[in-house]
Amino acid sequence: MIMKFLTLQKIEVPSEMLAVFSVEFFELIKVEKPVDILLLDTPQSGFGGWCAPRNQTENGEIVMQREYVLPTRPRPVSSCDLKHIYVHELSHRLLQNEKHSIRFFCLNLCLQIRASNQESRLFESVNLYDLSDVIFSDVPAAFGLAFSLAHSLAITNLTAEQVAKKIQTELTDNVIENKKNEVLNLQKELSELKASKFFIFVLGVIGTSTFWLFVLFIFGNGHL
Ligand SMILES: [Zn+2]
Repeated sequence: MIMKFLTLQKIEVPSEMLAVFSVEFFELIKVEKPVDILLLDTPQSGFGGWCAPRNQTENGEIVMQREYVLPTRPRPVSSCDLKHIYVHELSHRLLQNEKHSIRFFCLNLCLQIRASNQESRLFESVNLYDLSDVIFSDVPAAFGLAFSLAHSLAITNLTAEQVAKKIQTELTDNVIENKKNEVLNLQKELSELKASKFFIFVLGVIGTSTFWLFVLFIFGNGHL
């Protein structure tokens, strides 16, 4: 049996990436220790990026498609897309074992807001895929909670690492459960209100019809 192993090889940062992942970018998202990138050739995989469990990496690197920055690529990947992928995978790295949970959604959204500016509104690319591990009926509560926390944390001076910890302490299972119940109660109240409005409408129709029948009866000399 032949046994082999792969080792990581340091390469020159491709010029396309050098321009995107600048010091300014890392300052903007306030990440203390930028996570290294491992470029892989897996064009058929369908993934733009990947974050393997830390113990399966040499130094906690995240993976990005090398193909995305190849000069031979027919259509170049925009700098916005590269940043979006990096921030998504970085959020996975900062929140181990979370997958696409509410806490992941919150951190990713927070960092995408930080990385946005007038030209590249990265936060607009955050979508429900980033919440895909939350069961569908819980999405409204999860989205509301995560959105408002992400928005408020984005403008603080906390580092990305501190934001990740803050989210883990703020978005506990209890808080999520309470919010879920609050949303359910609101939905119940709304449907009861709709039902009572419909009842009042029916009563109004009956009342009005009776009134006009009565008028017709009086002015029709007792004949309908
Ligand atoms: Zn992901």
